[in-house]
Amino acid sequence: MSLARIRWISGPVLRAQAEGPFAMREAVRVGPQGLLGEVVRIEGDEIVAQVYEDTAGLRPGVEVTGTGAPLAIALGPGLLGNIFDGLLRPLSGDADAYVHPGMRQRRAERFDFTSALQVGDSVAAGAVIGETRLGDRRALACLAPPDADGVVASIVPAGRYAEDECVVTLRTSDGATRQLAMRHDWPVRVPRPIVQRLATHAPLVTGQRILDSLFPVALGGKAAIPGGFGTGKTVLLEALAKGCNADVIVYLGCGERGNEMAGVLDEFPRLVDPRTGRSLMERTVIIANTSNMPVAAREASIYCAATVAEYFRDQGLHVALMADSTSRWAEALREVSGRFGELPGEGGYPAYLSSRLADFYERAAAVTTLAGKTGSVTLIGAISPPSGDFSEPVTSHTKRYVKSFWALDVKRAQARFYPAIHPLQSYSEDARLFAPWWTEHGNSQWLALRRRFLTLLDQEAQLERMARIIGKDALPLRQQLTLLCAGLVDEAFLRQSAFSEIDRVCAPERQGAMMRLLGRFIDLAERAVAAGVHPDRMAQMHCVRQLQRMGEEVRDAELARFDELAAQVESEFAALTTEVADAPHG
Ligand code: ADP
Ligand code: MG
Repeated sequence: MSLARIRWISGPVLRAQAEGPFAMREAVRVGPQGLLGEVVRIEGDEIVAQVYEDTAGLRPGVEVTGTGAPLAIALGPGLLGNIFDGLLRPLSGDADAYVHPGMRQRRAERFDFTSALQVGDSVAAGAVIGETRLGDRRALACLAPPDADGVVASIVPAGRYAEDECVVTLRTSDGATRQLAMRHDWPVRVPRPIVQRLATHAPLVTGQRILDSLFPVALGGKAAIPGGFGTGKTVLLEALAKGCNADVIVYLGCGERGNEMAGVLDEFPRLVDPRTGRSLMERTVIIANTSNMPVAAREASIYCAATVAEYFRDQGLHVALMADSTSRWAEALREVSGRFGELPGEGGYPAYLSSRLADFYERAAAVTTLAGKTGSVTLIGAISPPSGDFSEPVTSHTKRYVKSFWALDVKRAQARFYPAIHPLQSYSEDARLFAPWWTEHGNSQWLALRRRFLTLLDQEAQLERMARIIGKDALPLRQQLTLLCAGLVDEAFLRQSAFSEIDRVCAPERQGAMMRLLGRFIDLAERAVAAGVHPDRMAQMHCVRQLQRMGEEVRDAELARFDELAAQVESEFAALTTEVADAPHG
């Protein structure tokens, strides 16, 4: 192993005089505690390394040892249900399993292993070598690492083994042997290989109406949630983690204050997954790198999280990775870059901010895996722009790489209108590609209704400006009606409380029923106004109040109640129109 000696150290960055060869991105161990670091630059006989742990006490002369390998993490079944730091070291479990300076691996847990392989079988890189059962009895594939292939030379009988125990020995084509365990190491900065990317036209179902019905994100797609302080980013990410239809959730708390992570940390273990009836933690991996943890580890944590997500994707699962927040990650990048003495660019961020963001979002995809399965990683990143200004570098660069943009609005949040996603500042590119999926899920009118809702909301914004000048009552009746209908879409459809038992998750079928009901109301209202009914009369209809409350009152399983509501809407409009027709003229 190569050796170097520290010459200079500043916070998480050190320069050391190398006494042997080092490679870029090689993992290093620093000082007597063996603190974990990584070579980020080589200048002649000097290496520059960033250290992922607290460097207090290090001084010139202290040894830096090369490990001969890039920074890697161990991927295996023991990840699910646990909480880790930014380098995937345990923050949960027994006290002695807790992370301590220089710690290398998490302890290997024991799992059942069975395999259909026999001695003499060929194993391709990334192929399934066996299967394990998790606590919830769910089967999880055990994979050969993407860089290992060969012929089975020996295999253990079915039984219980530690994650890092050899279960299969391969003889590789060059005659060497390679031992495989249920878990394997993979370098954090190298995307895991795949066979091919797939174009998907199915959404990640989030259970949030404004997202699924107006601004969907694809399974394997990428979305950003920019929002100023307190606009609801964390609550929204948590709602998605709890309610979306992914098989596995990787939740990255990146640089937020510890108390902001507290919600996730103590709530998740107690929450029940409605689909399985078991703890939500069993499908979740939490990576927590709070603001009091070393800044360089925050920079690495986002790659760790992406690698963990890809590992589960490779088993043929749909994975959603939520990162809260990518701004704190970018700040870590800025801080470390400053210590290197790099020239700052826009906003003080290094010039490579944009390409790093691109690299991260590039890891979202639906794919055919090496094992021939279909899996996906959907990336959802919160952005906390300073003073809520979306023109700052992190937001503007992220915009170039994501397809769905869910902009949280301060005014909506202040009015306690949640989720505070602004329907006119948000978008979803390629939304129309999801129309066939919606047709399969009972809403063939989805695309038309979506366009209608968005048009109404857009007209509302313009009319409100006008109404502020001339007064709402001076607007023509049709325009007053537009304001009424847009208000109803907002109130009855877009508003959705994350804390309502019934409404925190809304199934696509219910979203479709609500959309169609509102569409019908708007049709009838337009006819009524043409027949001379004043919009103020419509605003007082009994059914309007019921529509406003339907989200919190009608459950996913009670779709028939929407038909009853529709019948009521029809009869109330019929009564109103008759009343006007019968009224004496003049
Ligand atoms: P941010 O992460 O953007 O700083 P939070 O997600 O912590 O903001 O939200 C701040 C507060 O706003 C929450 O504590 C909660 O009271 C309220 N809030 C945010 N989103 C919702 C929601 N969807 N439903 C109800 N309340 C919400
Ligand atoms: Mg937050």
